[in-house]
Amino acid sequence: MRLDKFIATHSDATRTLAKAAIKSGQVRVNGEVVRDQGKKVSEKDVIKVHGQLIEESGEVYLALYKPEGVLSSTGAEEEDDTVIDLVDGYTHKELHVAGRLDKDTTGLVLLTSDGKWSHRVTSPKFSCEKVYHVGLADPIDEEVVEIFAEGLMLRGEDKATLPARLELLGEREGRLTLTEGKYHQVKRMFGAIGNKVVTLKRESIGQVTLGDLEPGEFYALDAEDIESFL
Ligand code: URA
Repeated sequence: MRLDKFIATHSDATRTLAKAAIKSGQVRVNGEVVRDQGKKVSEKDVIKVHGQLIEESGEVYLALYKPEGVLSSTGAEEEDDTVIDLVDGYTHKELHVAGRLDKDTTGLVLLTSDGKWSHRVTSPKFSCEKVYHVGLADPIDEEVVEIFAEGLMLRGEDKATLPARLELLGEREGRLTLTEGKYHQVKRMFGAIGNKVVTLKRESIGQVTLGDLEPGEFYALDAEDIESFL
């Protein structure tokens, strides 16, 4: 991994701050001052910024296929099953969901202990694409593609939705790509144009997909997937 990315990933520093620290000679790799921001480093290297050791974070990053009927909230007091009940061996008390799904929505949920990382996944500022397969009660008019691309006002909001991509897959079926996650957003967007969502499944978040997962299964993200959000 690049040195500037390593520092930003394993500390509170932003990439910009990490770069500035490297440039000003505040970073040592294995005892040597390094001013090359792109120098390749790994967990085996001893990296210090302002004399402080940067260590592997020990954070957890998981991709889960949420089945229908399971809650995305992670509170222990819930009566229904929650996503935390499904990630055996990772009952990390700090684990939280990076972008919730409704109880009746299925598909990809990312769970992590890393708040800075989940902010990257969920904040519209970082334009991370979330792709949903949508089944509808009524046929979809082609003009909806344009309406969603332009953005529309949802009741109770003071800003229009960000441009969204709708691909028509069938008379009552589509694939919708969003870069934000307002409350019940997909259902409210179709509700606003007079249709009703009957099935909803999140297929991917950024480059992370469900892969071969069956409902209820999960896997730990690899370094490439983790870093793809940074
Ligand atoms: N939009 C919704 O309406 N529900 C979800 O679960 C996710 C996105």
